Order: sequence, then structure tokens, then C-alpha cells
Amino acid sequence: MRVMPRVLVLDFDGTVTNADIGDAVCARFAPPEWRAIDDQWVRHEISLPEAQRRMWALCRATRAQALDGAREAGELRPGLDALLDGAAARGVDLWLASGGFDFYIEALLGARLDRFARRYYSTARFGGDRISVSFPHADLACDRCAVCKGKVCDLARASGPGTEVLFVGDGHSDRCVIGRADRVAAVRGSHLAKHLEGHGAGFRAFDALDELLDWI
Ligand SMILES: [Mg+2]
Ligand SMILES: [Zn+2]
Repeated sequence: MRVMPRVLVLDFDGTVTNADIGDAVCARFAPPEWRAIDDQWVRHEISLPEAQRRMWALCRATRAQALDGAREAGELRPGLDALLDGAAARGVDLWLASGGFDFYIEALLGARLDRFARRYYSTARFGGDRISVSFPHADLACDRCAVCKGKVCDLARASGPGTEVLFVGDGHSDRCVIGRADRVAAVRGSHLAKHLEGHGAGFRAFDALDELLDWI
């Protein structure tokens, strides 16, 4: 019997964690104008990298302060370890694809990072209390995203013949996976879930990540 190879692509902010950590750090360390920039991105007026460059430039936090803020907001979604273990037991490859940043993803996941065969996210550099962000995965960018989850799904599909691609996410930018992942799971009530419902697209809704054990 030949088992079809499977890749599970996981979003980070709002999916692996309960909250959007990038937003939480900006909310704490940037003046309120950052929200207007975020709204411009949601309305498709600017790309996510452009929004992030401007939002993070408004923040005033040292690396230690930003990490404290991230840890405070960074509760992991229940069921994460059960899902990671379940994927490993079923031979499903785990890939992490995030529009977020290295400093908080690495701090919050710790040793769990090693569970992911591939990890795609952006980079933040700290100079005193100034933060500048950069986007190392130019090959995975689209006109809206720095790390386009649709492109990551394409890459996963191309990783081996017959590969089935599963995507788990929550946000606006996760819409790029539509038509490119074979199956999608979305956090119940999230932007992604509402968008998929609005378009009559089938998806699996969940609150805790271990609800997906029978889906992977
Ligand atoms: Mg998200
Ligand atoms: Zn995209």
C-alpha cells in the first residue's frame, strides 16, 4: 500500500497562538496610528510588508521589552502538542508559514521549532528601542504578502509527486491558499472562516488544534 505524502502548512499568529502576537506587540509599543496602517492593509490599499515596515517603525521597544510583550500575549493554542505529535505519528510533514517575525516565533515555540521541516517567516532587527523589519523570502512574496501562504502551498505540492497539502490558519492573508491547498481548516469565527463561509468554500472549523487530529 502506498500512502500519499502529506504536508500540513500551519500559520502562526492567531493559529498556533490564541492572539495575533505581532498586533499585540504593536498595540503595546506603538502609538495608536499603527491601527490605521493595519486597516489600510486590510482594505488592500497597501501590501502587508509595506504595512509592517510602517507599523514596526512606530514601535519603541528594546528586544527584551518586545519579547516580554510577546510572551504576555503569546499563549499557545490548546492542543498544539497533540497536533504536532499526531502529525509526526501519521508521517505528515509540518511546515510553518507566517507573515510574522523571527524574534517572537522562535521565543514562543522554543524546541517545538524543530518539529517543522520548513519554516518561513520574516526578520526583525533591534537597535536600541528601534525595530526594523526585513523580508528574506522574496521568492515567496505575492503582491499582498511577504510570505505568501498560497506560494508555500504550491511549494509543498511540488515537494513530491502526489503530495496532498493541508492548510491551517485564521487571517486575511491566509486567503491566498484558496484553490491551492487541498483542504483548509480555519479557526472558528476567524476572518478566514468568515471569508470561506461567504464564498461557500468547504473547510474544517476548530477552536483547539487537537480537534484536527481526525482531519489530518
Ligand atoms: Mg494568522
Ligand atoms: Zn499571498
